Amino acid sequence: MELRLHDTLTRQKRRFAPLDPARVRMYVCGPTVYDFAHIGNARPVIVFDVLFRLLRHMYGADHVSYVRNITDVDDKINARAAQEYPDRPLNEAIRIVTAATERQFHADVEALGCLTPTIEPRATEHIEPMKTLIERLVATGHAYVAQDHVLFRVASMADYGRLSGRSLDEMIAGARVEVAPYKHDPMDFVLWKPSQAGEPAWPSPCGIAAPGRPGWHIECSAMSWQHLGEVFDIHGGGIDLIFPHHENEIAQTRCAFRTPLMANYWLHNGFLQVEGEKMAKSLGNFITIRELLSEWPGEVLRLNMLRSHYRQPIDWTARGLQESQTILDDWYHLIGDVTASPDVAPDPDVMESLGDDLNTPNALTRLHALASEIRTGASGQNQIELKRKLKASGHLLGILTQTEQGYLQHHPLRALIDESKVKNLIDARSHARKSRDFKQADSIREELAQMGVEIEDHRDGTTTWKAKRRIS
Ligand code: AMP
Ligand code: ZN
Repeated sequence: MELRLHDTLTRQKRRFAPLDPARVRMYVCGPTVYDFAHIGNARPVIVFDVLFRLLRHMYGADHVSYVRNITDVDDKINARAAQEYPDRPLNEAIRIVTAATERQFHADVEALGCLTPTIEPRATEHIEPMKTLIERLVATGHAYVAQDHVLFRVASMADYGRLSGRSLDEMIAGARVEVAPYKHDPMDFVLWKPSQAGEPAWPSPCGIAAPGRPGWHIECSAMSWQHLGEVFDIHGGGIDLIFPHHENEIAQTRCAFRTPLMANYWLHNGFLQVEGEKMAKSLGNFITIRELLSEWPGEVLRLNMLRSHYRQPIDWTARGLQESQTILDDWYHLIGDVTASPDVAPDPDVMESLGDDLNTPNALTRLHALASEIRTGASGQNQIELKRKLKASGHLLGILTQTEQGYLQHHPLRALIDESKVKNLIDARSHARKSRDFKQADSIREELAQMGVEIEDHRDGTTTWKAKRRIS
């Protein structure tokens, strides 16, 4: 199959050809571990997990290296640790905050059905390669030391700004550029800075006596170099990282290694907003993955994310979640206890849609078509085979990976319902129906609906139920 990916740098959808098909290499910027991940943070994790699954399918699971880092040194972490544990030494407070946040992040993304990346490097374990890069940049005139800081000299790189397509003037006008007395030029950015007593600190590079710590951008240049080399295939992250983070990663890496490229394809996911508004603490609509997982199965959250193309914005709504739950309930019910088989491959149309710059909405349209072939039995094809194909195609998207039983058992809504009471009411209703007391049967259905339970009668005389949420 052919894979075409939209590359932010060339602004084109291009056929994907790895530098080395025996080792396809992808780097995605991971979380800064100071707070619970919100549902916007889940977007790159899920999107690049789908790409990871697709690459593994195309090149073989052992031939894809996916690196997603953990940023565990950052000023936001220091601020949070000091605020949460004012009575503890700062470095101890930081360790508590980063360990707990990292644990929660892993639990969250596992519940969203994401595979573990091949390597998850931590910034604090890569200080030496960061210093090596910084010393190289100073030695070649791309960086300079000023007041115990090391700064990247943006004017030393002729095509700085290519990824974001901004001119230097536009970038200087941008609010994010910090003017500081030690900068020769306002565009120059920090590679290394001095630490105050008590803050995380390491011996500094370039003969600086004061201990210090790295800037954020150099962390990713060092970790991608260590684990994937000087040039690799794919670099990903959210659209907000294009400038300045990715622009600066490119500047550091390319100037340190004198290469024309850092990565061959730059992929960026669009932003997620909530019920039509930007998600922000100040607006009170900031939703963590953890909160959502207490109400919805992780797979519902994942499907809801994949119903939009990764480059488009997503409006995250309760209505959309309810629709996603209905779709999954239906597909699981159709598949029943049929298990996947290694002999049944994903549907070719699903593969083709994913190969077209990860067009997950089109892939899902095809899954709906397969489901309706199963439901109507109209295609005359072997039903078990079709169910296996639906499942195998879902696996590429990281959905339909459980049994129906497993999916229902882990339904958070279902956990809130007294199952034995539901069973008794369903029995009483069948009894009423058998004695043709339809009034009583209807009133039991209504009572169940009040409990948040929706029932479905089947041709074979059985009745199944699912937990339903009322949308206000
Ligand atoms: P951060 O921890 O803020 O650096 O974000 C981690 C990842 O989540 C980055 O790839 C961001 O681009 C991405 N991200 C943050 N907020 C959103 C959002 N609202 N929608 C989509 N992606 C986001
Ligand atoms: Zn990064």
